[in-house]
Amino acid sequence: MTDFTGLELAQPILRAITDEGYTTPTPIQLKSIPALLEGRDLLGVAQTGTGKTAAFTLPLLHRLAQNGEKLKSRQPRALIIAPTRELAAQINDSVRCYGQHMHLRSTVVFGGASIRPQIQALNRGVHILVATPGRLLDLMNQRHLQLGSVETFILDEADRMLDMGFIPDVKKITAALPNKRQTLLFSATMPKSIEGLAASLLNDPVRVEVAPAATTVEKVEQHVLFVAKDKKRSLLGELLKNKDIARVLVFTRTKHGADRVVRHLQQCGVKSDAIHGNKAQNARQRALKSFRNGRIRALVATDIAARGIDVDGVTHVINFDLPNEPESYVHRIGRTARAGAGGIALSFCDHEERAYLRNIEKVIRQSVPVLEDQPFHAAEIANAPAPGKRSQQRKRNPNQRRRNPGRTKRAPKAA
Ligand code: AMP
Repeated sequence: MTDFTGLELAQPILRAITDEGYTTPTPIQLKSIPALLEGRDLLGVAQTGTGKTAAFTLPLLHRLAQNGEKLKSRQPRALIIAPTRELAAQINDSVRCYGQHMHLRSTVVFGGASIRPQIQALNRGVHILVATPGRLLDLMNQRHLQLGSVETFILDEADRMLDMGFIPDVKKITAALPNKRQTLLFSATMPKSIEGLAASLLNDPVRVEVAPAATTVEKVEQHVLFVAKDKKRSLLGELLKNKDIARVLVFTRTKHGADRVVRHLQQCGVKSDAIHGNKAQNARQRALKSFRNGRIRALVATDIAARGIDVDGVTHVINFDLPNEPESYVHRIGRTARAGAGGIALSFCDHEERAYLRNIEKVIRQSVPVLEDQPFHAAEIANAPAPGKRSQQRKRNPNQRRRNPGRTKRAPKAA
């Protein structure tokens, strides 16, 4: 069974999948959909980019299609919770897309946006509610929402929920759910506390594990560019003269750093915008939309704001600043290797960031090739003793060396 017709999904759903141009289910879809159609609980160890949203949405839509599509005011039949507004909005977009040929109502609620239209949508009644935990609890506490009719509960990116301190909220939400329900929990990693949460929420779940982080990493062509801190912006401007860098996600450590990068790019004539926590929700949505539809070429983001962002066709990820958590590196570069596609990740590394680079290389179990042929290459950073080690020079594998991508056919992809 390698195509969608082998999965016994209702016709309107298959039509929507065809409209989207999907021909083959991804591994997580192949493994999850049959078990979910049987009504099993599921523990999914998978990160964004694996096709997990469709893996949980398609069987959910199928169940709704089979069981009649009746609606009750303020009582959703399925609840999906996600840690960030962007991810929640994206899930709702996917639900609408896959459910476009059904008579289906869904809505998304999150903080930072006016609550009134959210209350109105709930009053009208929805089959599927997608929510971030805080706003969901507000709506429950204000009695605009009742979870007694929830048949399917999906918790996405549980490890991010943990990082962001949402687990107590999640527990309050799950306490309001009926005992008889189907429950799905997805997490990119499985720390002990998530295992514990899963054990308390799931009933005899199927465990589906796909593409550990390293597999995604392998699909991405990675380079490190050693550069002095004060030359990073000039380097970025130079790289973006290369039009092959068509859709680029640039990561900075701070919100102000993101704004500074955007100002510089605009001076260089590169259409760009930033998303980070200081921006109003609608400004973030606007930036994301412009990035998706190609109106802007570069989106500059901080880690938190970028969590779960799903944009197809990102040709490059540029780490303007290296993250201090290797896991963030893996998440960041995974944005350019969606659903099996490859991509290119370029990481700027200044003197102080060499320790981060070393930790990243340990976690991804490979050394990141150095791109020397760039105008701001700082040999003194490359050759300085590795932090924490005595006079060990950074070794370069000659096979991994790249020429200036601007001058080669393939490399523009690379830089
Ligand atoms: P997700 O892991 O849910 O964030 O999905 C990652 C991306 O893969 C999204 O852009 C989906 O539109 C796309 N996608 C999901 N399933 C398939 C499929 N079977 N074939 C092609 N693309 C897919």
